[in-house]
Amino acid sequence: MQILDGKGLAARLREDLRGDVAALKKSGVKPCLAVILVGEDAASATYVANKAKACEHCGIKSLVYRLGANTTQTELLALINALNYDDSVHGVLVQLPLPPHINKAEILCSIHASKDVDGFHPLNTGLLAQGDESGLLPCTPLGVIRLLKHYNINVEGMDALVVGASNIVGRPMALMLLNLGASVSVCHIKTRDLAAYTKAAKLVVVAAGCAGLIREDMISEGAVVVDVGINRVNSRLVGDVDFENVAKKASFITPVPGGVGPMTIAMLLENTIKACRAQVRI
Ligand code: NAD
Repeated sequence: MQILDGKGLAARLREDLRGDVAALKKSGVKPCLAVILVGEDAASATYVANKAKACEHCGIKSLVYRLGANTTQTELLALINALNYDDSVHGVLVQLPLPPHINKAEILCSIHASKDVDGFHPLNTGLLAQGDESGLLPCTPLGVIRLLKHYNINVEGMDALVVGASNIVGRPMALMLLNLGASVSVCHIKTRDLAAYTKAAKLVVVAAGCAGLIREDMISEGAVVVDVGINRVNSRLVGDVDFENVAKKASFITPVPGGVGPMTIAMLLENTIKACRAQVRI
């Protein structure tokens, strides 16, 4: 069994990105990411702080807008509109979840597709669904693909399973695997016999948010197991996979923490540079 070391790979990618940012700055371009946080959700505040820190480490300028929980839809749209038209800002990200009075779909649609570094705009998701990955792709599934490629895991023709069907992780993950030629199944909360799917798969990507969901007896010998889940159990972070026992059967497995999480942030930085280059045409 080999560990898919997302933490190590992400650190290397961040160093490469530092070089890219330095080269852009020599050409007079300063990549900049704007992150908007609405409300006081503690986990979201930590994610935003981590994103800002990662940007600074690579030399990417980060702007963080912390808005009150009572911010209106109109106020939020006005800020996004201003950032869309600001040529010094190359990426715009609205931290999710948003307070319930905010129409999330309208907000995500209002970010200009060229600055949509989260890859959630319908134009970017639509391109992905058509097999065109030239737009900006969602960071978490993109990070999973990069990790698999780094370890020379070729998914072409592979029976792959994605557990979870969210717009953020599961759906785009399934599409990216399909675009690479995998035969993809998607399971979700309404799936009747999850174990039948997991046992049949050679690659299992789990993004359900349910600690202990995937047990050893559910995995085929030699399967590749990618755990996207992040759950807090007794003040410890764990994934959706029973790591200790599943690791005995898997050929490759991601740890939690240190697997997919760091790759997600590295992909956000890559998307920001990609968006920046496309906007300044370098
Ligand atoms: P979500 O709640 O939006 O979607 C969860 C999906 O899993 C749904 O499609 C649901 O039907 C399915 N599901 C839930 N329980 C299930 C079960 N028992 N059996 C089968 N399917 C089940 O969540 P999300 O935003 O997609 O995130 C999923 C998990 O990944 C969470 O733990 C989240 O914290 C984590 N996450 C991690 C990263 C990272 O960078 N590592 C990024 C995003 C999300």
